[in-house]
Amino acid sequence: MNQFPKKIVAIHAHPDDTEIFSAGTMALMRAKGYELAIVTMTPGGLGGIGSTEQETIETRKREARKAAEQLGAKYYCCEGRDGYLYDTEALRIRITEILRLEKAGIVMTHLPWDYHSDHRTTCNIVEAATMVATLPNVPCKAKPLDITPLLYHTAPLGSSDPLGGKLQSPHFFVDITSVMDVKMEMLGHHQSQIELMRVMHKMDDFFGEMKKQNEYFGKQAGCGYAEAMWQHLGGGFQKDPVLQETIAEFVLDNKRASIGARSLQGSASLQGSVA
Ligand SMILES: [Zn+2]
Repeated sequence: MNQFPKKIVAIHAHPDDTEIFSAGTMALMRAKGYELAIVTMTPGGLGGIGSTEQETIETRKREARKAAEQLGAKYYCCEGRDGYLYDTEALRIRITEILRLEKAGIVMTHLPWDYHSDHRTTCNIVEAATMVATLPNVPCKAKPLDITPLLYHTAPLGSSDPLGGKLQSPHFFVDITSVMDVKMEMLGHHQSQIELMRVMHKMDDFFGEMKKQNEYFGKQAGCGYAEAMWQHLGGGFQKDPVLQETIAEFVLDNKRASIGARSLQGSASLQGSVA
């Protein structure tokens, strides 16, 4: 087995995404001695009702910073524009720079087939930036990493592809029942999103709906609450199952998984929701 630094960098598109998709797993890894960093590609400026884009940016960055503090994680924002995120050379270089500064051993991001275009763009940027993190010719100031970080993908809300089709089953589930309170407290810092979800998605209980997704995965995995994960096992990446082995007592296989839009019919309001 290769040696990887004990540092997780979770990179998602918007403030609150990491909280929703991977904070439980990160809390379990922290208890095993891992350091954590949370990166948002955008400050979520479109996610405001009754506030300007700039006011929303300030509010949401403050919320994200507080949530990261709750997890004992550093927080970075790459300042891409919410809703208009493009895969640019500058953002790829910025992500490689952060991975190097943080000495990342594990990277988490959205799934390539996420429902939200900002999420898909983020995934593309992160995959490309992670793959070249060891290469000396990348124009970064920070020193290249010694080994390409392991890359993991997190589940989209609603657990379907962008057209509502069935997703490939997750590679594994993580039982986050014991740290669900930490995750919900982190999410609780994103008060600005309650009204947004009510207006945009007619969702009256934003935090409750997010919890339902973990409950749904928990049912698939055979525990109370779970997060779903895929490891990036394609070319260009190391394949050591470091995360799975570090928290092996919380990792559940996906043999009983039947992930897909159809099986989420009981949680109709999760379909097409936006985070
Ligand atoms: Zn998002």
